[in-house]
Amino acid sequence: MHRRGPETGAFGRWLGEVGDELDRFVEFGHPDPGSSAPEWTAKLAGPVPRTGVGAERTVAELRELLVRNGSRISDPRFWGFVTTGPTTVPVVAQAAASIAGPQRYTINAFNFVEELSLDWLAEMFELPPAMKGVYVSGGSVGNLVALGGARQAALEEAGLDPAASGLDGRPTAVYTSTEAHHTVQRAAGVLGLGRSRVRLIAVDEHQRMLPDDLAGALSEDRQRGVLPVAVVAAAGTTNTGAIDPLRAVGEIARAHGAWFHIDGAYGLPGLLDDRIRDRYDGLELADSVIVDPHKWLCAPVGVAAVFVRDRSILHRAFTQEPADYLEGSFAKDEGMVSSLDSMGIPYGDLAVELSAPARGVQVWSIIRELGVSGIGARVMADNDLAARVTRAAEEHPRLESLIEPQLSVACIRYVPGADADLDQLNQVLLRRLIRETKFAPSATTVDGRFAIRACFINARTSAEQVDDFVAAVVALGDDETGEAARASAGSGR
Ligand SMILES: *Cc1c(COP(=O)(O)O)cnc(C)c1O
Repeated sequence: MHRRGPETGAFGRWLGEVGDELDRFVEFGHPDPGSSAPEWTAKLAGPVPRTGVGAERTVAELRELLVRNGSRISDPRFWGFVTTGPTTVPVVAQAAASIAGPQRYTINAFNFVEELSLDWLAEMFELPPAMKGVYVSGGSVGNLVALGGARQAALEEAGLDPAASGLDGRPTAVYTSTEAHHTVQRAAGVLGLGRSRVRLIAVDEHQRMLPDDLAGALSEDRQRGVLPVAVVAAAGTTNTGAIDPLRAVGEIARAHGAWFHIDGAYGLPGLLDDRIRDRYDGLELADSVIVDPHKWLCAPVGVAAVFVRDRSILHRAFTQEPADYLEGSFAKDEGMVSSLDSMGIPYGDLAVELSAPARGVQVWSIIRELGVSGIGARVMADNDLAARVTRAAEEHPRLESLIEPQLSVACIRYVPGADADLDQLNQVLLRRLIRETKFAPSATTVDGRFAIRACFINARTSAEQVDDFVAAVVALGDDETGEAARASAGSGR
């Protein structure tokens, strides 16, 4: 009989072996793969193998060459950008879905939780009850899809179908703050609205959009015959976690007939921290909202949710062809016998992917594991870590904080006793931190000043690690500037 190799009967053992390796990996006791790159690249490189080495050896290489030389992004001391290592349960869910729920279509349990988990997210984040969602690969595509909805709404109002016929030369504009994520500009470029037609509105001293400046820009453009497509507010900027004044911005958008989009890719879960929930006041004015479960909810990368008031607008904006089967597809087929009797909800016509993984199962697994209260507790703990770093910096004579954290981002820098170019010095310190310690924050500028920026979203990070980080910044700063020598000379030793 012809044997089909390990295609049946081998998942258990190999997932177990790889799982054990991952359990060791997330301890991060191993060396940085950058230091040993010549060795493992030499083992991995080479021409395409003409004959296979077989399943057993391939899985061994996966464990020994790849996992052991994997990314520092999953390290609980990696605090750069807004990115993290996923927690355990959604990774297991993702592995399961790759076999048992390989697409978002047809009637099956994975397809069911695709929609259920979207509804749970909407409920958890208190979005207007009418809002429905679709999963996409990340915040970049999320902003693109939401702005595609906005473009459709604005131009339909003006008697055009932009998805079918383009913009027909209509001058349009999108409004967002100078602190907004640059994927807003890219989305405008892809949608034919134009990157340079994104008007950047100034921010206040807490990096929040200035509503009066927004109103001024909209009025000025209206007089010039420019069609306002969307106003994009951030519920948590990437640089500093700033939350725009959503109510004021949303009301201005409405008054000017512009779609109100809220980019909550990173910060929407902050709503679950009761101490700061009032900062989200006005959320219900949104026409669209995005959130990235692969950020603060700790799903594996590749999951963002886009919510809109009316999914049919996404269908008109992103359908592969004019089709009126959308509503029909939502109807329950009472006579259904086979899971292949229906495709289920046509997610493939609501955004830009046809084939796509079942992503809802990851979100379902996280919410099921922790509940709203457990997720809220994680969010609060992360906000506390940002506050902890900030207080430590404020109390130390040679550190300063550049922001009062609004969410889980802290921005600090080293300030020596003697005169120094602080931007230059802190750039050197950031490099040394990354190379010489296990800590990996990233950089930003706050009001033009260079900051060492730490964004806490990793569920494995501890308060001790955060304290050690502050001590490491001081130690490296003292070493770099000679403060250490001065201090010990001063103490007469
Ligand atoms: C991360 C981020 C994005 C982009 O999301 P990706 O998932 O990286 O594509 C957009 N907006 C904000 C506010 C973000 O923090």
